[in-house]
Amino acid sequence: MSKYYSKRNIDFLLYEVFDATALTTLDYYNHQDKETFDLVLFAIDQLAEKHLYPYLTEMDRKAPYLENGQVKVHPQMRRLMKEYGDGGWISADASMAHGGQQLPFMITSCFQFITGAANYSASVYPFLSSGSARLITHFGSEELKAQFVQKMYDGVWQGTMAMTEPDAGSSLGDISTSAEPIDGKEGTYKIKGQKIFISAGDHDGVDNVVHLMLARVKGAAEGSKGISLFVVPQQRITADGSLEFNDVITSGLFHKMGYKGCPIVQLAMGESDDCHGYLLGKENHGLLYMFQMMNEARIAVGLSAVSIASAAYYASLAYAHERPQGRKLSGKKTKHQVPIIEHADVKRMLLFQKAVTEGAHALLMQCALYADYMKAGTAEEQKYYGALLNLLTPAAKSYPSEMGILTTSAAVQVLGGAGYCDDFPIEQYYREMRIHTIHEGTTAIHGLDLLGRKVMGDQGAVLKVLIGEMLGLIKSIRGENQIYTHAKTLENLIGEVQTVTLHLGKVAAKEGKEVLLSDATLYLEMFGIFVVAWQWLKQAAVASEKLAEGLSKEEADFYQGKIFTTKYFFEYEVPKTKGLIQRLMSEDRLTLDVAKEFIN
Ligand SMILES: Cc1cc2nc3c(=O)[nH]c(=O)nc-3n(C[C@H](O)[C@H](O)[C@H](O)COP(=O)(O)OP(=O)(O)OC[C@H]3O[C@@H](n4cnc5c(N)ncnc54)[C@H](O)[C@@H]3O)c2cc1C
Repeated sequence: MSKYYSKRNIDFLLYEVFDATALTTLDYYNHQDKETFDLVLFAIDQLAEKHLYPYLTEMDRKAPYLENGQVKVHPQMRRLMKEYGDGGWISADASMAHGGQQLPFMITSCFQFITGAANYSASVYPFLSSGSARLITHFGSEELKAQFVQKMYDGVWQGTMAMTEPDAGSSLGDISTSAEPIDGKEGTYKIKGQKIFISAGDHDGVDNVVHLMLARVKGAAEGSKGISLFVVPQQRITADGSLEFNDVITSGLFHKMGYKGCPIVQLAMGESDDCHGYLLGKENHGLLYMFQMMNEARIAVGLSAVSIASAAYYASLAYAHERPQGRKLSGKKTKHQVPIIEHADVKRMLLFQKAVTEGAHALLMQCALYADYMKAGTAEEQKYYGALLNLLTPAAKSYPSEMGILTTSAAVQVLGGAGYCDDFPIEQYYREMRIHTIHEGTTAIHGLDLLGRKVMGDQGAVLKVLIGEMLGLIKSIRGENQIYTHAKTLENLIGEVQTVTLHLGKVAAKEGKEVLLSDATLYLEMFGIFVVAWQWLKQAAVASEKLAEGLSKEEADFYQGKIFTTKYFFEYEVPKTKGLIQRLMSEDRLTLDVAKEFIN
């Protein structure tokens, strides 16, 4: 067993629960087969084991610092950016026409997961570069592609997403960074303003940083409609091909509670009135384009949360096997203390972690599969799976992020006092997890998106499609066994989710948006448990079929683990929806009615 993730579970998800090899029947992926996928997974494992995991603690302790206006990161990052570039990891999912390997998202999501479990901070840099290079590839002119994309894929230049400003975080429509066309230089604008919290926004692991930056062209409409997207390099390319300073100053470096190996910086553009930005696509379409990267980033955040939860789970599991403490309450008193994994409450904390981590991982793999069909399937598949992916994305981002805080906390608890000390990596995992409910949209923003836009926006039409998928699975489960009982529980939950959604539709019609969305975060929480229950049922159905075959002890244990964890999820997690639904059905408008003076 690896220290931070289970290869066996990845194989189970890829090849037994979801048929990843079926993707190779699509034209876009037909140059690959299972052997290619396995080789890629092996290479990721080696990269993580040799180049990421050994630096996990050191990158946390030796955080980046600002020196003479430049951010210095751990020296491993320069070597690692080269590894990422040389290994083709940054361009792995780009098309072959654009110099990539055209790998399915199902496989590249394993890159995100394994590298994230090994060393979250170090896993973020290549992700940011590949997402921003993809934006240039999709929306940029040939000149912009030629100037920037290859360097980013090679790991020589870093890509970023530069959106947040001091007065515009959740509310991106309020950004004020400005862009003014430069006469005689079509597509080039003078950029002026400030950005904050920009991940990997400046560092000495690369030779240049390329910001994909939101700004407002002078005279453009207010709000989201007037936002455009620009390529704003830290150093611009001159006519003779050399680099010159582009008036992007690193004006600050933030000190974070976790994720310390990757800097987040404050940037000032145009202090000397000489910052050039190159327009991507059309003016005023910026937020729309950026959403492409943000949607990918949201799935990636979910994957990162799951990967950290996985690392914390395996660290606490190993400890629980080794730590002798206390004796069994019943039976003959033993002389020696028992390993803590023998106590029911420790098993509960471990099962909780396993249930959330592997359940959420399955949900993310489901999203990855939908994303692959959305990209490479028939027109009909693209529409069908695209709609499902769109509906699931808020939960795929938020469920592992919110629950991961609780699972990493449970991991600390398994270790007792040792969990609170930095001799073990778990306190670091706990700190690293905390960011995921904040960046790429806070949980509240995803609640608003799910309930306001994605469920109410089409009167529950796509939700109905999702429920159709769930009912298909439930129908396929026969026999009066344990799995059948879970299937019936999910069927009942479907009815309850439909009832609460209909009720909220009526609330919206009668009392308006403000009331509808006042508890949107709770709806998202309920929805997260709902869709993860579906994923556990799926896994249990596969496991129970496998258990009917003759298996080695190790394999039988693996599948029994799936059966018991499904049971845990249905016994301990699914009932939590009851309280949420009760609140969502209530007529009381407490959080709207309470005056701010009373929160004292
Ligand atoms: C480590 C880190 C890395 C980051 N990386 C990047 C990056 O690479 N690029 C980038 O552009 N940004 C980045 N960010 C910024 C991040 O995306 C923002 O912090 C996030 O969007 C929240 O914005 P904010 O911090 O201004 O919080 P605010 O928007 O001020 O929110 C504060 C609180 O109010 C709530 N709230 C706000 N509006 C509403 C509403 N309408 N309804 C209900 N509740 C609401 C929020 O849910 C939250 O709880 C990063 C941030 C951090 C901390």
